[in-house]
Amino acid sequence: MSDCLFCKIADGKIPAKIIAQNDHALAFRDLNPQAPTHVLIIPRKHIATLNDLTDGDAELVGRLHLLARQVAADEQLNDGWRTVFNVGAHAGQTVFHIHLHLLGGRTLGWPPG
Ligand code: AMP
Ligand code: ZN
Repeated sequence: MSDCLFCKIADGKIPAKIIAQNDHALAFRDLNPQAPTHVLIIPRKHIATLNDLTDGDAELVGRLHLLARQVAADEQLNDGWRTVFNVGAHAGQTVFHIHLHLLGGRTLGWPPG
């Protein structure tokens, strides 16, 4: 999608600190980190929100989590880590290309704000 920030990052048109990638997804550091490790994992395919998923995206969503596991291992988050999908206004979604937040490197409170 031409005017999507994360599509531009996936296409290499906007720089980002990419730390892992494969044919399906990429992982890059969040610009405004909320934890010592704060990485965003996105599909190369443009999907606006989790509400827009179809059955055909089931494998892709699994692959996002597999990449999260790889990044967590690379970052040595041995004491635990968290993934979050924000969906829509009440959850604070600001970029409408799905992204899995991977947070770690500190104790994470629960429930989240
Ligand atoms: P959300 O609020 O769930 O939509 O998360 C969007 C995230 O994208 C926020 O944590 C932002 O800090 C992050 N972000 C926005 N622009 C960029 C960018 N150019 N590179 C990396 N992260 C970004
Ligand atoms: Zn996009």
